[in-house]
Amino acid sequence: MTKTHLNGPPTPEEFQRQLAEFMRQHLQNSNAGPGASAKPDFGVSAESPEADSKPEFKFDYKPRDVKAYLDRFVIQQDEAKKVLSVALCDHYHQVRLAFEGKETPNYAKQNIILIGPTGVGKTYLIRSIAELIGVPFVKGDATKFSETGYVGGDVEDLVRELYRRADGDVARAQYGIIYIDEIDKIAAASNASGRDVSGRGVQTNLLKLMEETEVPARSPQDIAGQIQAMMDLTQRGKKGAGTINTRHILFIVSGAFDGLEKLVQRRLHEATIGFASRDADAGQKQALLQAETKDFIDFGFEPEFIGRLPVRVVCQPLSVDDLFAILKTSEGSIIRQYEQSFAAYGIEVLFQDDGLRRIAELAGEEQTGARGLMTICERVFRDLKFELPSTQVKRFVVTRELVDNPPAELKKLLVEHQQEERKVARQIVHEFAQRFQENHGMRIQFTDPAADLLVTQALEHGQSIRDFCASRFKDYQFGLKLISQNTGREEFVINVDAVDAPDKVLSDWVVASYRKAE
Ligand code: ADP
Repeated sequence: MTKTHLNGPPTPEEFQRQLAEFMRQHLQNSNAGPGASAKPDFGVSAESPEADSKPEFKFDYKPRDVKAYLDRFVIQQDEAKKVLSVALCDHYHQVRLAFEGKETPNYAKQNIILIGPTGVGKTYLIRSIAELIGVPFVKGDATKFSETGYVGGDVEDLVRELYRRADGDVARAQYGIIYIDEIDKIAAASNASGRDVSGRGVQTNLLKLMEETEVPARSPQDIAGQIQAMMDLTQRGKKGAGTINTRHILFIVSGAFDGLEKLVQRRLHEATIGFASRDADAGQKQALLQAETKDFIDFGFEPEFIGRLPVRVVCQPLSVDDLFAILKTSEGSIIRQYEQSFAAYGIEVLFQDDGLRRIAELAGEEQTGARGLMTICERVFRDLKFELPSTQVKRFVVTRELVDNPPAELKKLLVEHQQEERKVARQIVHEFAQRFQENHGMRIQFTDPAADLLVTQALEHGQSIRDFCASRFKDYQFGLKLISQNTGREEFVINVDAVDAPDKVLSDWVVASYRKAE
């Protein structure tokens, strides 16, 4: 090492610089081009002039197209879908313009607040849109972050995760979507105690991201990542990941915002003193739709923070009818998943409407929105998924009865199936008799109890019915022939005694036939 700084521990930046210097001197090979030798790459965006191909971004959706796509997956939430479609289209048209160098000056980014109870499709909406547009998507939880990033996560990790989801493509990461759930928790905390510093600190950090900042693609704490970056730099002369600019990253925050409707109602009420009070329930529903910046500030958000989230979207709770529609018509319906997992064992499932409705009703009681559907389905199909693959059952119907009492229906299914199997097995026994006649000229006939007993014994021995009959009655062709010669008899009835002790019965018959002949 040539240059060293020995006066005190280095700052992280200094440490990186020194490490970079060290790596360059020790690992440099002949491939490292002149571009690689200048200085450590941190702080340099991938969109620097020497980037070989200019990244482009295509976007030509209209809000109606986006909504039509969402309609295929997300049930209800019509208003939310419309507002989101417009906001998303606005945002990505801007991104496209920026790529073309025609960005609108002072454009205010359409970051979004999504309000609504759990499991009503908030994440699903955004994830679906990200898939449609083909941009990377990351979901985080506001309660997981701490102000310093030491105890909890660091909000910048979200950006780095986006970069990972974009397969290390900085340009793509820069127009991805970051979704942060439970945002109300970092405001409500300050609301309750009056002086929660951490929630406020996280808001400040998020605010920086939402505005515009440069985030190193590799965390300063991630030494392995840092070393890798420097190896790339020195060995291949390739610029590392650099930094991610958050200017065009779309931020969507969401939460249930319990209590917000009261704040809105109070404000509205103050404004309309003297008017007759409206229907309370409808009032609450309407209230959230009218939430304004002031209400969010009263709720415990910093004004600057809320100011960066101009689009407000409300998702409504789902009714039992909605849950039923989700099961029946959503392209992402969980029942498709069940159909597939049973199909993997060659089992076909038919979901009857009364069964689906019952699942929806039970899910409604869970009070977790569409998440309840998963809970109920898991419970209903647990035993069936375990047992059926090891049986010969090849199809079953999901009825209301099955949803209400899966173990009883499973048992019934197995008994029914066994009965069906025995019926076929008995037919095989009778077919054995028929072939016996064709091959040996004598007619044998099994009584029903005898055929039944044969089936039971064959199953117990784990043998096929045909093989079992053949081995049980292997001497009958000879014995019966003798009897036939002695007595002229050509028809024989085989009862349970003969099944139990075929050789003894046959020899008794033969002996008797001699007597008769005498
Ligand atoms: P949250 O509102 O808490 O973000 P999610 O969007 O994560 O809820 O919903 C959980 C799952 O429930 C989704 O992955 C989806 O399968 C289903 N789901 C929720 N809401 C709907 C809806 N409105 N239409 C169709 N499926 C939904």
